[in-house]
Amino acid sequence: MATSSKPGVLIVDDQPTHRRLAARALSTLDVNILEARTGEEALAIARQEHELCVALLDVHMPGMNGYNLASELQQRTNTAALPVIFISATESEAAHRQQADKTGAVDFLSKPVSPHILLSKVRVFLELFLQRRQLQAAYDALQRQTERLETTAKVSHQITSILDLDQLLLEFLSLVEKRFGYNHSGIWMQSDVPRADDIVLRAGKYGTHQPVLEPGSTIPVNAARSIIAHVFRTGKAYLSSDTRIDPVYLISEGLEEIRAELALPLRFGHSLLGVLDIQSEQTDAFSPGDMTALSTLADQVAVALRNVRLYDEVHRLNEDLEAQVTQRTAELEKAYQQLELLDRSKSDFITVVSHELRTPLTLINGFSQMLSDDEVVVSDALRKQLVDGIVAGAQRMGGIVDSMLDVVRIDSRTLRLDTEPVNLHELLTTLSVRLAPAIQQRHHKLTIEALADLPQIEADSAEIGKVFGELLSNAIKYTPDGGEVTVHGSCLTPSPDTEDSYVEIVVQDTGIGIGPDHLELIFAKFYRTGDVSLHSSGRTKFKAGGPGLGLTVARGIVEAHGGHIWVESPGHDEQKLPGSKFHVILPVKQPVL
Ligand code: ADP
Repeated sequence: MATSSKPGVLIVDDQPTHRRLAARALSTLDVNILEARTGEEALAIARQEHELCVALLDVHMPGMNGYNLASELQQRTNTAALPVIFISATESEAAHRQQADKTGAVDFLSKPVSPHILLSKVRVFLELFLQRRQLQAAYDALQRQTERLETTAKVSHQITSILDLDQLLLEFLSLVEKRFGYNHSGIWMQSDVPRADDIVLRAGKYGTHQPVLEPGSTIPVNAARSIIAHVFRTGKAYLSSDTRIDPVYLISEGLEEIRAELALPLRFGHSLLGVLDIQSEQTDAFSPGDMTALSTLADQVAVALRNVRLYDEVHRLNEDLEAQVTQRTAELEKAYQQLELLDRSKSDFITVVSHELRTPLTLINGFSQMLSDDEVVVSDALRKQLVDGIVAGAQRMGGIVDSMLDVVRIDSRTLRLDTEPVNLHELLTTLSVRLAPAIQQRHHKLTIEALADLPQIEADSAEIGKVFGELLSNAIKYTPDGGEVTVHGSCLTPSPDTEDSYVEIVVQDTGIGIGPDHLELIFAKFYRTGDVSLHSSGRTKFKAGGPGLGLTVARGIVEAHGGHIWVESPGHDEQKLPGSKFHVILPVKQPVL
C-alpha cells in the first residue's frame, strides 16, 4: 500500500560521482534513493513518486538549474511542500537565502558535502516526513471512523423501523455496499423447510450482473468447509484475511476471486438468528475499524430481525385470534338461533297449555263456586272445607294460567296497557289489605312509607297491581316467619310536573337474600333458585316456590310502562338473612304515541 512504502530521497546532480557519494552517505537510511541527472528528469520522477521526503538539488546544472527546479517543484501539488536541500560549491549562504525566500527551500550545503552532515540533515527530514505520515494516517482513520459511526447511526435508525423481513435485509445489504464498498454480502438463516439442518440464504448480493448465489441457496450446517456454517456452529465471528490459505474457507462456484471473508453472527440475547457474510476480492480487505462498525451493524440487524419476528408472531396471533373470534361468533350465532327456536317452542307450548287449561278451569271455578254456596255444603263443615279447598286450588291454578298468558303477551309484545291515573299509595294499601292474612299468618311486619306524597302516575293499575302483588308475595315467601317487609317510595325529580319525572318504589325484606349469580337470572322465564324437587306450592308459605314466572311478568309489565326493575342483595344466606331490595322505577307520565 502507498502509505507503507519507503519514503523517497530525490538526488539531482549532473555529476554521477556526486550522486553516488550522496547515495552512499544515505545508505544506512530506510529510504528509496531516486537519482536524476537533470531538472527535467527530476520533475518526471517527482510526478510519479508521491512519497518523497526530501530533495537534494545541485544548484549548478546544465539546463534547468537547482533554483528553477525548486520553484517548479513548489508549483506542483504533490511536491509543493517537499523540503529541498540546495548543494553548491560557489554560492554563499546569503545567496542561498535569497533563493530560499523565492522557492521556500529549507536548507543548504556546500560542496564538498560532508557525508555525515548530509546524513544527519536528511535524517531530520525523513523523521519529519514519517511523523507527518503517521499523523495523516491517524487523521484519516479518525475521519473514517466518524463516517462509519454516522453510517451506523443512520443505518440503525433505518433498519430497526422496517418490519418486512425481505425489504429489511436487502436495504441492509445495499447499505453495506454503499457505505463500506463491499458488494459481495449475504444474510444466512436457519431453514425451517425442508431440512432444519440447512442454512439458507435469505438475501444476498453476490455479484452485480448475474447473482452467483440466489436466495434460497443452502449450506448444510455441519459442512466441514464453510465459514458461514462454522459461524452458525460456533456462534462467533470469523475473519479470513486470505481465503487461499484458510482451511475453513470453501470456494464457491463463480466466486473464485474472493480473497477475504468476514462472517458475523446475528444474535439477540442467547439466540442466534442468522449470519451476516461479507466477502471481498482483496486480501486483508477488512480493517479493524470496518469490522467494529460492521459488528455494531450486525447487532442492529439482529434487533431488527427480532422485531420482524415479533411483529410476524403478533400478526399471526392476531389472525388466529380473528379466525377464532369469527368461528366462535358463528357458533354463538348458531347456538343463539337454536335457543331462539327453543324459546319460541316454549312460548308456543305455554300458549297452547294456558289456553287449553283456561276452559276447564273456568268450569271448575264456576262449579266449585256454585258448590260452595250450596245449602248442603254450607251446613256441613267437612264438605264446606273440601269445597273451599277446590275453590282455592282452582283460583291458584287460574293465577298461574294468567301468569302464563301474561308471559305469552309480553313475549309477543301484545301486552295492551289500559292507562289511567294511578295512586300508588292507594294501590299498595289495597294490596296490603289483601295480603294481610298471609302477613299475619307468617308473623311479618309490613310497613308502607312515603307513598302518600308521591304523584299519581299514568299506568295500567291492574298490571301495576300484579307487579307489586308479585314483589310483596315474594318478600313474604322468601322471608322466614317474623320478618319485616318495607315498601318505600320516592320521587326521582324535584318537580313531579316536569316531563321525564319518575317515581321509585323499593320493596325490601329481611329474608334469605339472593346470590350474586342469580340477581339477573331470576327475571328469566321459569327461572327459580333452589331444588325443584323440594318445590312446594302455596302463594305465601316460606320458600314456597312458584313456577318461576312472577318476576318475568313483573319485568315485562314495568318495561311496557317505560320503567326499570332490578334487585339488590348482599347474597343468599338462610341463617344470616341478608334480605333483598327490589327497585321499581316508573315514569310519571306515559309517552304520547
Ligand atoms: P317464583 O314463582 O319461583 O316465586 P319468581 O319469578 O317470582 O318465581 O321468582 C324467581 C326466583 O327468585 C324465586 O324462585 C326465588 O328464588 C327468587 N326470589 C324472588 N323474590 C325473592 C325474595 N324477595 N327473596 C329471595 N329470593 C327471591
